[in-house]
Order: sequence, then structure tokens, then C-alpha cells
Amino acid sequence: MKSANTVLSRYGETIFATMSALAQKHNAINLGQGFPEGCEPREIVERAAWALLNESNQYPSMFGLPALRQAVAAHDREFYGLELDWQTETLVLSGGTEALGAALFALIDPGDEVVVIEPIYDTYLPIIELAGGVPKIVRLSPPEWHLPLDRLAAAFSDKTKLILFNSPMNPTAKVFTRAELDAIAGLVAKYDAYAICDEVYEHLAFDGLAHIPLITLPGMRERTIRVGSAGKTFSLTGWKVGYISAAPALIRQVVKAHQFLVFTTPPNLQSAVAFGLGKDRQFFADFTAGMQAKRDRLVGGLERAGFAVAPCAGTYFVNVDIGSVGFDGDDADFCRDIIETACVAAIPLSAFYAGSPEVRFARFCFAKPDALLDEATARLRRRFG
Ligand code: PMP
Ligand code: GLN
Repeated sequence: MKSANTVLSRYGETIFATMSALAQKHNAINLGQGFPEGCEPREIVERAAWALLNESNQYPSMFGLPALRQAVAAHDREFYGLELDWQTETLVLSGGTEALGAALFALIDPGDEVVVIEPIYDTYLPIIELAGGVPKIVRLSPPEWHLPLDRLAAAFSDKTKLILFNSPMNPTAKVFTRAELDAIAGLVAKYDAYAICDEVYEHLAFDGLAHIPLITLPGMRERTIRVGSAGKTFSLTGWKVGYISAAPALIRQVVKAHQFLVFTTPPNLQSAVAFGLGKDRQFFADFTAGMQAKRDRLVGGLERAGFAVAPCAGTYFVNVDIGSVGFDGDDADFCRDIIETACVAAIPLSAFYAGSPEVRFARFCFAKPDALLDEATARLRRRFG
């Protein structure tokens, strides 16, 4: 038989599915795959149930429900001072994943270069390659993960179509600084390129740190696609409701990819997300503060178990240096070891590298009930402490 698509044939199952299956097999506490437990806002879920019974269950507009698009525009004005025309500058898609895929397909022509930052979130490279793009990888180094501006500049050329990056950044837990964003903006403008900004963790920047969308920087309004996700903002990862904010010409192009890939997103979930985005500032502040407290709880527990924990400025992940507890193998060995010996699951950071990783780090998710975080770190302490 002829071989199937060569790009997809090179990729296996995602590390998230693999580690979750292993966690289930060993009945382990799953701090691996990033999904929140016990944080789902009940009134938003009730609103979706209500909408299922009381609103339309047929195809909504392929751009998304007007109520949600208006809510996205209002949210971006409230938090970032961004003035969007909801009818031409917002679009609803089925999760951040589809939004990123549709944005990449919308912009990339075969041979175009795409700048990405490593460690790289798992969906980026396969889609870039399926679209015929050529990744240009800029590697960050732990534990600070500063963006190396000289290497960033060297990754750009006249062939650069776009840069794709994620801030707050999974898995490094880094929040890009204003200076780093200025450097990115300068290069995007200089090379007449675009930026796709994965901002699904926008409400998970801690310690009073501001999340700054690149689209708000001078010259970036026409060149940037900003991606958000209800999965992260409302701790409802199963819903797969994502949204983008961008200039009209970009929205018109992305919606073409959306219409051929997915077309529409479940209307009752959109309706409930519109309700959620309409919540007052306190709601979002409480969410951020609650997650920050969980971060501190997990970091404290991991430190008591003997780990050197890398700084965590955002997202709901923390990384530990596995050498700090004297572990000899690589981070994949470590994650297999702790599932079997401590019944705790994590994600090896090497899974986020296209080339050979220099890191030996494991990522733990803290969007979990406090009791689960405490039990997980108690088990790790028994194993390593
Ligand atoms: N980007 C990053 C960096 C993520 O961690 C996630 C969450 N899984 C997504 C995109 C995708 O979000 P969604 O679940 O809305 O598709
Ligand atoms: N974004 C989540 C993580 O980093 C997982 C999403 C998925 O399982 N595909 O853990």
C-alpha cells in the first residue's frame, strides 16, 4: 500500500495521552496532562445546561454566536484596552487548538519559514509542517527561560511568514516581558511578517505580573492573531471553545480554514462562555489568586520533597530539576519511575523538544484540589526525601 501522510506518520501519540493512560493504569495522582480538577465554575456549567434546553441546537454562525463575539470584544477592551469591532475582528473556534491550526493554515504557504520557541507546545510543529511551513526554532534555557534576542533575530529572514509563540508559556511557566515582546514586534515589522500569539493562559500570570498581548504593541494590530480559550480561562478543558481577536483581513482568512475544518462550535457552550466572559474583574482576579495559591502549595510540597523548583510566573505548571533529588536517568525515565514507585504522574519536558533536549525537568500541574496536591507531594517526599 502507498504510505499515508509522511508528516503525521512521523508523530506518535501525544505525551499527554500517554502519561494519562499510564496514570490510570497505576491509579496514580495525575499531575501530568494539564486539566483542572475541582475548579469548574458551577454557574457557567449550569448556564450551558440551560442553553441546551432553551436555546438553538442547530448550526450557529460559523463566526460564532454574536453574544460570545461581543463578549470577546468587551473582555479585550476591559483587560487590554483593545478596541475590536466584534463583527469583523473576532471569531469563535473549537478550542485554542483549532484556532491555532486554522490560523497557521490561513497564513502559511509551502516553503514559508515559521519562527517557534523551544520548548514547543505539541500541536505547533505538526500543523506547521502539514501546511508546508519550515520551522525555525529558537531554544530557551532553564531555569529562567529568557528569550535570547540575538538568536531570535538570527531566526528571522525575508522568508519568515510568521512567529508563533505562547505567553504565559506552557511548559516553561514563563511570562514574556515587555522588552522581549518589543523585540518580537520589531522583527515582525522589519520582516513584514505576522504573529500568532497563543494566549490561552492569559489569566494565569502571577505575583501581579501583567500579561501583555503582542497585538497591543505599536504596529502589531494588523499583523497579530491573538488566541484565547475558555478551556483555560474557565477551567473547562473538555468544552473546546476558543476565540481569536485580529484585524478584519486576518479574520476573513482564518474563517476560511475554520469553515473547511470544523465550521461551527456547539452553541450552548458558546452561550455559557459568553456569560463567563461577562463576569466582573473580581471573578478573574479570584481565579488568578486561587491558582497562585495552588502554585505556592505545590512548590512548597515539592521543595520539602527535596526538589529544586524552577520559577513559575504563569500557567498552571511548575517544573522541577530531576537532578536535584539525585535521579540519574533522563526525564522520561523519571516520569515512568514516579508513576510506578510514588503513584504520581508528571510530564517530561524533553517531550517539548524537536531536537535533542539538554533539559532534565519534569512538569507538574497544580490546577488540582489541595488535598490531591498535598498527597502527591507527600508521596514524592517518601520516594526522594
Ligand atoms: N496552547 C497551549 C499552550 C495549551 O497548553 C493548550 C491547552 N491544552 C492549548 C493551546 C489548547 O487549548 P484548547 O484546549 O482550548 O484547545
Ligand atoms: N495543554 C495540556 C497540557 O499541556 C494538554 C492538552 C492535551 O492533552 N492535548 O498538559
